[in-house]
Amino acid sequence: MEIKHIQDHLMSVEEGYVRCFLIEGETGALVIDGGVETGLRKFMEKQTSQKLTFLLTHSDPDHTAACGEFEEILLHPAEMARLARKQKIQNRFAAIQEGDLLDFEPYHFEVVLIPGHTPGSIALWEKEKRFLISGDSVTNATTFLFGEGRSLPAYLCSLRKLAAIAGQLNVIYGSHGPVEVPPTRINELIALCERVERGEIHGVPAERFAGDIQEYRHQGAAIYYPALTQE
Ligand SMILES: [Zn+2]
Repeated sequence: MEIKHIQDHLMSVEEGYVRCFLIEGETGALVIDGGVETGLRKFMEKQTSQKLTFLLTHSDPDHTAACGEFEEILLHPAEMARLARKQKIQNRFAAIQEGDLLDFEPYHFEVVLIPGHTPGSIALWEKEKRFLISGDSVTNATTFLFGEGRSLPAYLCSLRKLAAIAGQLNVIYGSHGPVEVPPTRINELIALCERVERGEIHGVPAERFAGDIQEYRHQGAAIYYPALTQE
């Protein structure tokens, strides 16, 4: 794990291909996601003496390795059943919902529900400081949109919801790839997903997956999605 300064009181914890975030507020600290490595809690406690609040953007396995280290896990209810199947920690779950406000002075986040990548994916919107923490939904990497629980139509709806606030963002911080994502990525992803839905774009077989999963690209946007069947 490697800590990197992003802006005042906001740090990322780099774990190779995935990252977590730490917001050190004046009276408490927020840990966003549990990564692929255990020991995250101890690592965070070395960075800050503030009481830690732990939150998941979603419950994919590359974001949940350290969940068992925290007494309480904030996540959207639509993520709970799946995580409970993998880790017997459901008695620690606490629900976060669309519109919830999380205050970690000087940061104030609003929870934005953005299903698609997973059913209960959320983003954290800092309106005043004009940034969004997007989980896997808007990144510089390739977003997974195949398999159980993922939905391209739901993802498109969520991207359109984010597009409505893109003009109020200076930057997006994603979980994979280089951390700073331009807000224009939202519209690039919309254009990509619309083309995939209409069957207008060809993907390239993704070597990392067996079977028919392809990588579709448009400008800076990329998704993994099943091969489109020929008419
Ligand atoms: Zn991920």
